[in-house]
Amino acid sequence: MTSQTIANTPTPDQIHRAPKVLLHDHLDGGLRPATIVELARDSGYSQLPETDPEKLGVWFREAADSGSLERYLETFSHTVGVMQTRDALVRVAAECAEDLAEDGVVYAEVRYAPEQHLEGGLSLEEVVEAVNEGFREGERRAREKGLRIRVGALLTAMRHAARALEIAELANRYRDLGVVGFDIAGAEAGYPPTRHLDAFEYLKRENNHFTIHAGEAFGLPSIWQALQWCGADRLGHGVRIIDDIQVHEDGRVELGRLASYVRDKRIPLELCPSSNLQTGAASSYAEHPIGLLRRLHFRATVNTDNRLMSHTSMSREFEHLVEAFGYTLDDMQWFSVNAMKSAFIPFDERLAMINDVIKPGYAELKSEWLFRQTASTSGSVTSEG
Ligand SMILES: [Zn+2]
Repeated sequence: MTSQTIANTPTPDQIHRAPKVLLHDHLDGGLRPATIVELARDSGYSQLPETDPEKLGVWFREAADSGSLERYLETFSHTVGVMQTRDALVRVAAECAEDLAEDGVVYAEVRYAPEQHLEGGLSLEEVVEAVNEGFREGERRAREKGLRIRVGALLTAMRHAARALEIAELANRYRDLGVVGFDIAGAEAGYPPTRHLDAFEYLKRENNHFTIHAGEAFGLPSIWQALQWCGADRLGHGVRIIDDIQVHEDGRVELGRLASYVRDKRIPLELCPSSNLQTGAASSYAEHPIGLLRRLHFRATVNTDNRLMSHTSMSREFEHLVEAFGYTLDDMQWFSVNAMKSAFIPFDERLAMINDVIKPGYAELKSEWLFRQTASTSGSVTSEG
């Protein structure tokens, strides 16, 4: 190992402190187990499988790991079930921002589907305003602890429902008020994104931004539709683009037309390694396509998807990747800059985050090694030296 790679191999503490950028995280997939228990108690929600926070956390992880789609979906019925009042939404959003800041995330786009939070009588607008209020509160609490984070909301429409245009209009109405873009999510098979063309066409006419969950379970046709029919700015997951890349025995790599397009046009891939392992889209971190996609210089980003169900965080995702691929602080910086470049906030603000927050943050981490090295070798300098 050269001194350069030693310098850049991050320790868990450095991974934690490194400024990270998150583009794909679900609000209803990241609750604290203790909060779920308290919100259920306060609202009279009686469906929880466990009422001890620790056991509940394990239950979520095991249900998501089980390989059963039914059990996986059940996890969201509980989190969404306790997020039906204004106070609950404010609290969950505030804790989300707080937890991400504690994890060293400096910029995050967190998504949720407003249409799933109407059971307690809230309007779509009230849902959006409650979540925005929570994010601002979380940012404020982080600041009090000396941490800096900025959180933008993405409004998600559910693929199987028929409210995409309405949600797109909602995203547009709140675009300068905390909402930075739009997304569609839900089962890919049987629900192609082209069902919601009216929503995407509306957003394009409004010069607004959107990402589409595509190429997770379902392969290339889903990615192709999301890009070429719907005009997505980013791909939620997009990991199956790997199906259009051939690695020959002599190491030669050949990209199909779609993979070439994605790379040439710098289409951001919101990759979520741990989540893919749970849904079977990859079998291990070492075999996850992110390794090849990074090597081929796709616009790859690292994301958490559902922190509670996957028992993960941005730091954990990077710990797994550092272990699997030997990634350095330079790789971490590359992923973080990629993500920041792909964010939906204005260009000048992205640039300022990259130049004033991300790059200086990594430069400082990288320089720590120099001083540690000086301290540990200073005693061994001899007169011959
Ligand atoms: Zn997702």
